Amino acid sequence: MSYLKLSQKFSELINVSNGLKLSDIKFRSFRSNSIRTIMAWETEKEKYLNMKAEEKQKNCISLEKIPTWKRLCESEKLPKPIMKMENCPIDNKLNGILSEKISIFEGDITKLAIDAIVNAANSRLQGGGGVDGAIHRAAGSCLRLEGATLAPCNTGDSKITGGYQLPAKYVIQTVGPQLARPEELNKNHFQLLENCYRNSLELLVAKKLKTIAFPCISTGIYSFPNLPAAHTAAYQARKFLEKEHPNVDRIIFCLFLQTDKDIYKGVLQSYFPVSG
Ligand code: ADP
Repeated sequence: MSYLKLSQKFSELINVSNGLKLSDIKFRSFRSNSIRTIMAWETEKEKYLNMKAEEKQKNCISLEKIPTWKRLCESEKLPKPIMKMENCPIDNKLNGILSEKISIFEGDITKLAIDAIVNAANSRLQGGGGVDGAIHRAAGSCLRLEGATLAPCNTGDSKITGGYQLPAKYVIQTVGPQLARPEELNKNHFQLLENCYRNSLELLVAKKLKTIAFPCISTGIYSFPNLPAAHTAAYQARKFLEKEHPNVDRIIFCLFLQTDKDIYKGVLQSYFPVSG
């Protein structure tokens, strides 16, 4: 018998004599560590949910500071409209109402003091690069602990966690389709990206939350081409709002890159025309 096995046997004997096996002790200490970890993020989650956004972050941006799409169209010279994709019918009777439920925000999503921001997460929900890294850094380590209890999150699915130190109350984590190269884009990638937007919006309404901001899911490290991604985001938001607009105050597209700012200003004109 090796030294290690001998000493294990010895400890087991002592513990058995105390009425406990080594496996019981290991399990109990694992369980109490896990319980401590769960309590740590649950307590923090509650604490931050009860706090005002300005107490969490001084330079945050509230909804009132973000103009609606309608106001932006009236106050800014926009680029030429980009036509809708084929087979994307819209109900023009709702144009007036819906153009006040959409916004573009140019900047950092971690500054938004709204109900929920969406994270372009990976399936482990443990943080990564790009917007995912920025959200995890701003939220603090409890976001990772809570993520571990919900992972894995499949591509196209969405899960909700607390916002912790972020000015946003919640983070809706969604996993976008991953392409090796933009030229690989196929129907399945489109469907998965549609699922990301739709599932995140459904989660928002299911939780009785009213304001949400999306980054450009999958268009960074995951290589989904920017223009078709913007068409998908705009049409999913339009379809969702046509059904659910009384339950939603604002869907914000948070744009970080100049390319996306130009594309969205073109695309939104055809999915969210201001008048009928
Ligand atoms: P993915 O892995 O889904 O491709 P990325 O984080 O690489 O996600 O990129 C998604 C988009 O998020 C890109 O347009 C990127 O420029 C943008 N982005 C990066 N950081 C931020 C941020 N702090 N706020 C908003 N958008 C961001």
